[in-house]
Amino acid sequence: MHSDNHRARKRFGQNFLHDQTIIQRIVDTINPQEHDHIIEIGPGKGALTSPLLKRLEKLNVIEIDKDLAAALRTNFADEKRLSIHETDALNLDFNSFEHTDLRIVGNLPYNISTPILFHLLRYRERIKDMTFMLQKELVDRICANSGNKQYGRLSIMVQYYCDVESLFIVKPEAFTPSPKVDSAIVKLTPHPHPRYELSDHESLKIIVRESFSQRRKTIRNALKKYLDETTIRNAGIAPEIRAENLEVSDFVTLANCYHHMKINTL
Ligand code: SAM
Repeated sequence: MHSDNHRARKRFGQNFLHDQTIIQRIVDTINPQEHDHIIEIGPGKGALTSPLLKRLEKLNVIEIDKDLAAALRTNFADEKRLSIHETDALNLDFNSFEHTDLRIVGNLPYNISTPILFHLLRYRERIKDMTFMLQKELVDRICANSGNKQYGRLSIMVQYYCDVESLFIVKPEAFTPSPKVDSAIVKLTPHPHPRYELSDHESLKIIVRESFSQRRKTIRNALKKYLDETTIRNAGIAPEIRAENLEVSDFVTLANCYHHMKINTL
């Protein structure tokens, strides 16, 4: 490929997959169907792009690196089914894709994985599912349950909106250059309807952030500025519990209390 001269750019989190067994396994996991509306973030040199395209009628890819985008345009010059968007996925308006059953995939640049996830969650109503390679540590945090050390803001915010599944680990040797840590494949499936009724997204963000600002604190102390002890107790939550032992539904309950209190004091 023309892009073989390309030197991996750290600032774009470039670790290119070369292990064909792993590539095949990822594509099989995505299980593309001919008419699916798949968008790949960060196609790089096309490791996943080529096998995906074989199974699809149409594929959109988003690549920020102008040299890689140019190489893709050259390498796929005769391929009408591929649309290359040379842009930053973080600034892309996913409403600009006409379909509402988007499947988003990618071996995501590790340095912006979390912001990309949050950006995509804003478009959850148009997204059918997302399959990503991320650092294993991040996948563990996304999928962690209450009571677990990794359970925190990311677990709650993602699990509120999506079903999460950690699928398999990918070792550093599968990439060039090799990253320093293990990676893992995660599948996120946005819930068609929210699991719990949430009055206000911002309130959930605030309550979750404050609850975990000091993990060792009880919820009563961590939320002192936001909710009083009686309100927490009346919501059916023990004020002396720590954030890491609360379920996603408890955070939604607390966020709703906070939101109603704010409205009533306006
Ligand atoms: N998919 C390829 C593979 O598996 O070999 C490349 C994966 S590499 C980890 C991440 C890719 O995302 C790189 O091609 C990088 O240039 C691209 N990228 C980085 N930041 C991006 C952004 N903000 N928007 C779109 N693409 C980005």
